[in-house]
Amino acid sequence: MVIQTHSVSQTDISNWIGGKAQPACSGQWLEKYNPANEKVLSRLARSNHEDVARAVESAKAAQPAWATLAPVRRGEILHELAAVLKQRQKEIARVVHLETGKSMKDAMLETDAAIQQGFFMAGEGWRLYGNTLTSAMSQKFSLTIREPLGVAGLIIAANTPIANIAWKVFPALICGNAAIVKAAEDAPQTAHLFAQCAQEASLPDGVLNILQGLGEEAGAPLAAHPDIAIVSFTGSTQTGREIAKTCAGRLARVSLELGGKNPFVVCEDARLENACSWALLSAFSNAGQRCASASRIIIFDSIYNRFREMLIEKTQKLKIGTADSDDLGPLINERQLNRLLEALRHAQAQGASLLAGGERLERAGYFMAPTLIDSVSPESEISKQELFGPIACLYRVKNFDEALRLANDSPYGLTACVHTQNIDRAIEFSKNVQAGVTIVNGGTHGSEPHMPFGGVKQSGNGTREPGKEALDVYSNLKAIHILSNKENL
Ligand code: NAD
Repeated sequence: MVIQTHSVSQTDISNWIGGKAQPACSGQWLEKYNPANEKVLSRLARSNHEDVARAVESAKAAQPAWATLAPVRRGEILHELAAVLKQRQKEIARVVHLETGKSMKDAMLETDAAIQQGFFMAGEGWRLYGNTLTSAMSQKFSLTIREPLGVAGLIIAANTPIANIAWKVFPALICGNAAIVKAAEDAPQTAHLFAQCAQEASLPDGVLNILQGLGEEAGAPLAAHPDIAIVSFTGSTQTGREIAKTCAGRLARVSLELGGKNPFVVCEDARLENACSWALLSAFSNAGQRCASASRIIIFDSIYNRFREMLIEKTQKLKIGTADSDDLGPLINERQLNRLLEALRHAQAQGASLLAGGERLERAGYFMAPTLIDSVSPESEISKQELFGPIACLYRVKNFDEALRLANDSPYGLTACVHTQNIDRAIEFSKNVQAGVTIVNGGTHGSEPHMPFGGVKQSGNGTREPGKEALDVYSNLKAIHILSNKENL
């Protein structure tokens, strides 16, 4: 039986295709657990290629009429969607809170970011500009216009589920595409609720479709479908590589927002209290499940012992739980928790020293104590691989050059931060660190709705999604040349 309800008790969450809830063609369901108490929270439709085909048909049918609407009108509808999200913010945040285990306070902030993204992108309906171009021919008048691509396949991670959906859906739709979201299997109801809000805002049925299910069964056939014009993916580098290969086969456009192993450098002239607060937030907020989390804390030798003691003391005081007064919540699922514990044991076997945390908490839920380690080789596995959890490694360096070298010694290049009071160091670091985003005297963090975000090296494929730069991801530029003939005047 399919139960359609807004309540957050045990619920079956179907796909959302053509404006209707539809169970998976297989008739099968998967269980979603509440990460804070390990109880079944909901069941989600276990979709496969047949559901993908249905969603693509629905999106293809709806897209031409959506693309024909004036961009300003599309913007008005998306503005209304952002307004509905605002009206239902607490309800959405509560679902995010239950599905991820983050506090209501953090879930409200995340929902706020999604709403802001909506309002910003709705405004792009007024600014879907091309350019006017000069020409070598005096009778030629040239310009570019933006055209939609068709149907966008949007595949997302669960760490900030409502923000991840908004980040992709709003720019895809303002450009005149229809969208199919492959929801994160760990946050199915968040995506379902977003689709219901879109219907309430009078988004035409079929313009936004949601597929539930597993990556290999629902995400892979979506990426492989010949009628998907663009795949935009937020997730791990490993999966991103698979998706890129699939899209290369048919030369489909692909945007990849992938992992990070973000360096956080503390120079000897840093304001240490400030640096310590930011380091803890950067490493442990959202239980370290952030692409931008600071997992490599690089500290100058002359302050290493002092700063390490400050970090240890404050880490041990962090509060773990799902209340607003807590600092971090659980991991999203048990598999991820076990993966982290395994990586930690492996690092310890190779000589890493445990400074704080290191264990699963003895209570229900996938809670791990915030963990600090040092005596780790920069070449070891734990220094190179993204962990996506509350584990940070400390490294000792002699000077600025060594800090910069170590910051860049990574397969990833998403965000990077330096703490210093020396403007020349700040400039040198900002210019030379290999990252898509650099921060001075703050934390490694994501973007604001109007700012480009994305990484270099294995953190992405060079696209930038929020901000007006996202329009380049989701539209084609067409050049138009109009030649005048004076004899016709
Ligand atoms: P993941 O790659 O395992 O899964 C992400 C999504 O891809 C899920 O919806 C999953 O079902 C789907 N998927 C899995 N295998 C697939 C396949 N073969 N084909 C198509 N889809 C597939 O990642 P995760 O562990 O869920 O998320 C954490 C990762 O996301 C981390 O690496 C993190 O850094 C990254 N992330 C990046 C950003 C960014 O903006 N750069 C933001 C958030 C998270």
